[in-house]
Amino acid sequence: MKRAIYPATFDPITNGHVDIAARAAQLFDELIVGVYDRPMKSLLFPIEERLEMTREALAHLKNVQIKSYSGLTVNFAKEQGAGYIVRGLRALSDFEWELQLSLANHKLEPDIDTVCLMASQEYSFLSSSILREIAMNGGPIEDLAPPVVVKALRKKAMVDEDGHSRIQIVSVRD
Ligand code: ADP
Repeated sequence: MKRAIYPATFDPITNGHVDIAARAAQLFDELIVGVYDRPMKSLLFPIEERLEMTREALAHLKNVQIKSYSGLTVNFAKEQGAGYIVRGLRALSDFEWELQLSLANHKLEPDIDTVCLMASQEYSFLSSSILREIAMNGGPIEDLAPPVVVKALRKKAMVDEDGHSRIQIVSVRD
């Protein structure tokens, strides 16, 4: 039985991630989506929310489980009994980073191989950070993220960086 992990930060999950997970789920008998707990970058959503949104967004994929993890990705793969790490490639710029990552992981754990899937054309520009940027500026995100994420980002966009509401209550006299 072939089991793979698809590790990412998912801050938050986009339709590009969903596309890669759905295609990987067809290639492998079991796919474990790993939501990375503590990346070395600032986050918009805490781990519980990223996990919950990822669960809801991928609920339609029957051979897919969603788990959070911390520490080395290869250790998570080993713990899960997975022989493969799935990653997505959007552009040439992704390739260099993904190659470096896969070589580092191979050095750490030679038995685990990395499988890269090409991004679908419609999502090849999409990243979590671009999605957040559009959302925080009130742009249309319905085609870019699952409904649960659209809702959560809309809610976040209602408050500014200091936690103050951006909604202005205007009283209208009749
Ligand atoms: P990380 O912090 O691990 O890079 P990301 O959530 O940014 O986490 O991305 C994880 C993986 O998903 C990477 O392999 C990335 O290239 C891939 N990915 C992200 N967005 C897309 C997309 N729109 N289409 C295909 N793959 C994507």
